[in-house]
Amino acid sequence: MPEPRESNPFTSPHGDDQPSSPELSSIPGPLAVAVLLGLLLTAWQIGEFFVIGFTDTSQQFSLLIGASFSFFISLGLIARSSPTWAVARYYFLFHGMMAVGFCVMAFVFLKPPLAIVSGLVQAGLCLTIFIALGRASVRKYHRLQCPHCDLINAGGDDLLCFQRRCTQCGFRW
Ligand SMILES: [Zn+2]
Repeated sequence: MPEPRESNPFTSPHGDDQPSSPELSSIPGPLAVAVLLGLLLTAWQIGEFFVIGFTDTSQQFSLLIGASFSFFISLGLIARSSPTWAVARYYFLFHGMMAVGFCVMAFVFLKPPLAIVSGLVQAGLCLTIFIALGRASVRKYHRLQCPHCDLINAGGDDLLCFQRRCTQCGFRW
């Protein structure tokens, strides 16, 4: 059987020095966790829509809106954009606080245990995502690392980080 390809000593073996794809392969672990938990939250909200929605029609609409928000914001996190990151972080923090408040209300007004459990699950998911998004590797992914001095926890001039400013050297980008 003849050798199909003559080995060339000047070319390195395939895949050795090939630059890895900058998009999908560089998603940091905490970000992957955050996106997966966001999709899990979406699934949970849709499930709740089917459980509660049929008995309490006043909540149907808000549950579906919440589910679609969770879905699009979670997927949006894959984009390397700091405003998306900021929006997602505020959304999950807000949603988490609401869920905690909902839990307390459900407990005080003696709602069925399902309501309390649901609030606890959603609060847990949201706050875990919030913490995961605050990790340095995720901030770096979403362009929050100063190009000048490499400080990672660089903040924004505005709430949504459209204009980023380094807290260490004052560089704007
Ligand atoms: Zn800097």
